[in-house]
Amino acid sequence: MQPNPAIFTPILAASLLIFAWSCYRRFSLVSLGAGEDRFDNVGARLWNTLQFAFGQKRVVSRPFGFNHFVIFWSFMVLALANGEFFLRGVFPAASLGLLPSVVYHPLLVIFDLVSIAALTAVCIALVRRVVNPPYDGARTGEAFAILGMIGLLMLAFFGMHAAEIAMGKEPAAAWMPISSAIAEFFPRSSFLDPLANICWWLHAAVLLVFMNYLPYSKHMHILTAIPNCFFKSLEKPNTQPREEFTEGNSYGVGSVDSFNWKDLFDSFSCTECGRCQQACPAAVTGKPLNPRQVIHDIKENLLANGPLLQRKGAPVLPLIGEGDGSVARESIWSCTTCGSCLSACPVFIEQMPKLVKMRRHLVQMDADFPEELLNLFENMEQRSNPWGIAPAERTKWSAQLEVKPFEAGKTEYLFFVGCAGAFDSRSKQVTLAMAQILDAAGVSWGILGREEKCCGDSLRRLGNEFVFDRMTNENVALFREKGITKVITQCPHCFTTLKNDYRQYGLELEVIPHAELLDQLMREGRLKLNRQVKDLGNIVFHDSCYLGRHNDIYEAPRSVIAQATGSAPIELERNRQNSFCCGAGGGRMWMEEHLGERINLNRVTEALGKNPDTICVTCPYCMTMIEDGLKDRQSGKTRVKDIAEVVAEGMR
Ligand code: SF4
Ligand code: SF4
Repeated sequence: MQPNPAIFTPILAASLLIFAWSCYRRFSLVSLGAGEDRFDNVGARLWNTLQFAFGQKRVVSRPFGFNHFVIFWSFMVLALANGEFFLRGVFPAASLGLLPSVVYHPLLVIFDLVSIAALTAVCIALVRRVVNPPYDGARTGEAFAILGMIGLLMLAFFGMHAAEIAMGKEPAAAWMPISSAIAEFFPRSSFLDPLANICWWLHAAVLLVFMNYLPYSKHMHILTAIPNCFFKSLEKPNTQPREEFTEGNSYGVGSVDSFNWKDLFDSFSCTECGRCQQACPAAVTGKPLNPRQVIHDIKENLLANGPLLQRKGAPVLPLIGEGDGSVARESIWSCTTCGSCLSACPVFIEQMPKLVKMRRHLVQMDADFPEELLNLFENMEQRSNPWGIAPAERTKWSAQLEVKPFEAGKTEYLFFVGCAGAFDSRSKQVTLAMAQILDAAGVSWGILGREEKCCGDSLRRLGNEFVFDRMTNENVALFREKGITKVITQCPHCFTTLKNDYRQYGLELEVIPHAELLDQLMREGRLKLNRQVKDLGNIVFHDSCYLGRHNDIYEAPRSVIAQATGSAPIELERNRQNSFCCGAGGGRMWMEEHLGERINLNRVTEALGKNPDTICVTCPYCMTMIEDGLKDRQSGKTRVKDIAEVVAEGMR
């Protein structure tokens, strides 16, 4: 059918202009953010874009992901058909039909089949939203409007072509199987011509409305998700950038324009799929933190304040505060920095780093933090450990052992005991087990003793960058002075901080977590056990966030358990990358949980569902949280063991 170009051309031109203006207004707000280089290593970035944007690798990894894959690819393929549709509206003679039939006919088949696939996928998505929405609040009018528009677009496509075919006006009807099948149902009548006309204008109207609605809806991600995959962090966001402590600087993020441009771009890229909120231990247990909402609030804040800030005016909506468009303090402090949100997000939005940036602002600019952290910060400043215990007591765990200090040239590894390993009575048993194992395997190791200071993990994740910076500088100087290059850790928080954070201070260490070392020693036959450990019964394994998700170490602890006991541990429902936090990371170890269900109880309930005799861990924080949870659940039969203790049992 031939529309009237004289009518359609000005409508199309006006729509394109409005669309371009809307996009400009929104995207120009991103330039309010600080600079950050996300254009390096273009090859790796393109590969990420291929895998995650076009391949939808993360999207299809979850139920209903394939449905989105179908809609995404239908949109891509039909972009060509829609391009031709607009072009013909302006220049009726222009048509893909001018292409050789060997190209044109297969294209018609593809457009027809893809349209029916898209219509089916839209129907599935609609039914899902009605019957079983991905999260409370996903049944928005916006979501239904977008799905409705895509559905209407497909119906108009078929109506238009089927009417043409039924009138005998479509010479390539044989190449349009679905449209031809629909045409069979159309009676030959004078109504067909107006029907084709109505469907053409309906198709055009929906396309143009859809296009102009995009920049103002959550479906802006159609424009931003692909570039967001290109700009994804090439490093795991398991550390935070350094602050420059110079006079007059402002620290952290207290207003939306203090984020960097990628943070702001993230806020326009959220698909509101809810995967982060379903994975977030805080959200799942009823805390006010919801990572999806945080990203949404940042966007709302940018939209409210951005135009004013562009005109050098003052923001009207606080970034940190109550109400829509502001992130509540309680949300900011609820984060365990577990990284689940980062692993779940299909478009690589960095939720957790934004929360830490806001913590930095609260702590360093406003001295505004939960009262219970005051003790921790003071203890760290004065005694370099979270409990404020005298440094002389750091070696008490080794009273019955002959432990040597680290000496460069004489000792290969520094065993970085960590504060929990040195002071916490339960974790001291793990330290002893590790010391015995290292000796039995003939590893050359020494300790720093009273000179050891906290690595600073909790300080950094809590946003107290000033004290972290001071302690890290002191630690780095000590490590350099002692000539330390190889470190063994038994705490994933020490591991990640020494390995990933200290790099920013110019200290490159070879840090080996005890899980990997034990696995290696047993595999190489350097550590021989006297017996297979059978008396621990059913063992389930709990992944630590900072060993697993933040550093991709999943197999080593499982292998240690399997080698020591003769059988692989039982897996929890949420394991490896989808593991559930114990609730202690991100400095939450030092804070009470006042709101919602306790995270450790949620995890312990999950573990008890497997009827375990032993829950195996690789982290002193997980040990404390899970033991506390078991006490609360009054599960006297289940014990908690670190993997080092399991191995040490096999040496007896
Ligand atoms: S890091 Fe963990 S606790 Fe924090 S927002 Fe993400 S999922 Fe939630
Ligand atoms: S931040 Fe990512 S995971 Fe969370 S709702 Fe948005 S797109 Fe989904």
